[in-house]
Amino acid sequence: MASSPFVKTDIPTSFKDHPGVLSALLYTPLRLCNLNCYHCHNKHLAPKEYERFNYGELEEKLSLCKLLGVELVIVSGGEPTLEPRLEEGLKFIKEKGFPVRLDTNGTEPERVEKLAQNRLIDGVALDVKIPLLDEYTPHQLKRFKRVLFSREDLEDSEVYNYVNRVKLTIEVLKRYSLPFTLLRTVEYPLLTDEDKELIRGSLKSFPHQFNPFYPVEAE
Ligand code: SF4
Repeated sequence: MASSPFVKTDIPTSFKDHPGVLSALLYTPLRLCNLNCYHCHNKHLAPKEYERFNYGELEEKLSLCKLLGVELVIVSGGEPTLEPRLEEGLKFIKEKGFPVRLDTNGTEPERVEKLAQNRLIDGVALDVKIPLLDEYTPHQLKRFKRVLFSREDLEDSEVYNYVNRVKLTIEVLKRYSLPFTLLRTVEYPLLTDEDKELIRGSLKSFPHQFNPFYPVEAE
């Protein structure tokens, strides 16, 4: 049986991931990501070796989800838009009758647009990690490099590039009114109250939530 793009793991279900909706979580490889956020849980805690569900196993899991009354499948990572075989996995979930929410850091707007165009997703949870401004002070750049990349010795263009990509993803989300869309921000201790206010203020046209920060020990 062919291997799916999703990591073989327990499939947690909850009403919390998408508020008020019973959802089940699938993951693309947890270390597959183009950012290295401050104390990222996934990159630091994920095992280096992992197996993927084959499609028979995935079918079984999704049938169980159906019996449990799951209303939404959330595909998270890592960064799922970097998984080469994402489309075939999403198609499989959709064929089993589930709407899909994709969790993304927003750096791959073209891929998100294609998924929306091809009706492979019904919503996106977009993480907006810093205020999306046109210009930053040196102080802000220093803090935001740490939020996004866990280091300060990077070109400023890395932050601006991130911001431009996320803004493009937001434009995509405005073009496709996907019902399970929400924007989220982790309350990193590096973010000031002013940063949070700026984030909240610029995202008024979407449902937006702040999520608590959970520190982890680095490897
Ligand atoms: S985008 Fe997500 S998976 Fe990637 S480094 Fe940041 S927190 Fe970790």
